[in-house]
Amino acid sequence: MINYLWTPPTPPSLPVRGKSERLPVNRIFCVGRNYHAHAIEMGRPVDKATQRPFYFTKSNTALVPSGATVAYPPETQDYQFEMELVLVVGAPGFRVKVEDAHKIIYGYACGLDMTRRDLQLKFRDQGRPWDLGKDVEESAVCSEVVPMPGVVLEQGEIALEVNGVTKQKSDLNKLIWNIREQIADLSLFYHLQPGDLIYTGTPEGVGPVVAGDRITGHVQGVGEIALTVGPAA
Ligand code: MN
Repeated sequence: MINYLWTPPTPPSLPVRGKSERLPVNRIFCVGRNYHAHAIEMGRPVDKATQRPFYFTKSNTALVPSGATVAYPPETQDYQFEMELVLVVGAPGFRVKVEDAHKIIYGYACGLDMTRRDLQLKFRDQGRPWDLGKDVEESAVCSEVVPMPGVVLEQGEIALEVNGVTKQKSDLNKLIWNIREQIADLSLFYHLQPGDLIYTGTPEGVGPVVAGDRITGHVQGVGEIALTVGPAA
């Protein structure tokens, strides 16, 4: 029995389709620039022949369930949406081979990687960490988890609307580093654990939101996500 100075927070978790148990969320990894058209709109095209994927992380305390209303965050004038497929790890994996990557997949979810774009780009251009741009409170929005153990998603529409107007529309088959490659590469650096989430990158069309906006999105074969942006706290 451990005695704490104060009650530790309840571990972040997500609902799982078809189950009463919730999935405890461990770490949140995010892949940067993983669709060519998005990399180009960010002014940083990707040449897969000479470049490797890169990652940033969000605190798992940034997790927000689909359907929530979040306050417009402080210290930004350019809060943006990024619609993403979220890969849910279900087994430990270290130095996982591409051909074995499916073995650690628990399932998938729909995600929003909400971003203080003004700060991200300022820090990027200054060679500073992206944390204040990306590890924003309430910025890791995630739908229910859909169990698909061992399934490697290779195609399917991914799209996002703001107030019903389509802003992002692409296909998972346009991922630069696919699901298998992401698991193999990231597991060179980390001992992946059950409950780790990988936000797999966003397609082109990212843009700002303002208070009152309603974001909706879907990934074909996975599900839907929604978020309402409220006024600044
Ligand atoms: Mn992203």
